[in-house]
Amino acid sequence: MIYLDHNATTPVLPEVFEAMKPFFTDRWGNPSSSYRFGSELKGTIETARGQVAELIDARPSEVVFTGNATEANNSAIHAALKANPTKRHIITSQVEHSSVLNYCMALEKDGLRVTYLPVDREGLLNVADLEAAITDDTAVASLMWANNETGVLFPVADIARVCKSRGVLFHCDAVQAAGKLPIDVSKLAVDYLSMTGHKLGAPKGVGALYVHRKAPFSPYLYGGHQERGQRGGTENVALIVGFGKAAELAKANISAFEDTVRSLRDSLEEGILSAVPDAELNGHKSKRLSNTSSIAFRGVDSDALLMLLDQEGVCASSGSACLADSPDASHVITAMKPELHDERNTLRLSLGMEHTASSETWWLAAFVLRGFAASHEMEA
Ligand code: PLP
Repeated sequence: MIYLDHNATTPVLPEVFEAMKPFFTDRWGNPSSSYRFGSELKGTIETARGQVAELIDARPSEVVFTGNATEANNSAIHAALKANPTKRHIITSQVEHSSVLNYCMALEKDGLRVTYLPVDREGLLNVADLEAAITDDTAVASLMWANNETGVLFPVADIARVCKSRGVLFHCDAVQAAGKLPIDVSKLAVDYLSMTGHKLGAPKGVGALYVHRKAPFSPYLYGGHQERGQRGGTENVALIVGFGKAAELAKANISAFEDTVRSLRDSLEEGILSAVPDAELNGHKSKRLSNTSSIAFRGVDSDALLMLLDQEGVCASSGSACLADSPDASHVITAMKPELHDERNTLRLSLGMEHTASSETWWLAAFVLRGFAASHEMEA
């Protein structure tokens, strides 16, 4: 199998699996219990909290563990609205993940007003559009760090500065950025920032929300006193340990990730773009994650192409895994290139650290091209 879909999910790293194992077999207590077999696990959770905090240069007390990033995203927007009950306006972008977009759309049905900022043909956001959209009624802006489909980066520092100067809370979905590029929240005026374990070598089902120590917060899940009353529900100790270990490894490997994966991605991408007529890159060439390549193949049905690649053992996608079963064109590609609104012709390739040799990249490119040729033949 050739796995080229790391933006959908990543393999659990062996060190992460080893770190988690005892918490399934021997140390399976409830951290809220008063006896030591349970209560000792509180310290285990705090170690993991420290590791996740370190990944983004936060204080451990600013990290709340959640069930996933979908919950973290919903929680942040919820907290910002709760803190500003008289403000009824949210700003987001047209290219956010469905965990932000669909929550915003649900809030619209409840009577809130939402501005969906556009992006240009390269997927970039214009901060002037954000400035123009802010009103006295704006409670929160929720804008992502890196796009999951194209890898395009938003100007997070500028966004944070504008939001702070206008008194608007800023939530950043950093799910795809965390572990792939350096993040230092201590130098950034961000109020909330979401992450998830399964994009950086931990299992699915554990996320985290950074909440700046001065940002307002109220729980999204009410329950027991877990997470200092910020998120009810018995902690998933094993997964939290796994997230902590994965965050520690990601922090240590961040520049290796950038260097190794970028050159492999570039040679794979250049190989495809130079060999396939009418293939076009989606997204800005350099303001982009080092591991992601989104390519539109004009006149090709991406579902057919993906099926053929699957038969060759290549795992890739046309966009977000969460929307893979939707018959519609990607909302991200449509926002960038409106003329593609009824086309599904995009292939997203997202690499990870296990792709190491450049020869392998060419082998992968050959697979992609074989799939491309076969799908053309099929259509003809
Ligand atoms: N935000 C972005 C940008 C994502 O790519 C994803 C996952 O695909 C999510 C949020 C949701 O993460 P989770 O699967 O942990 O809910």
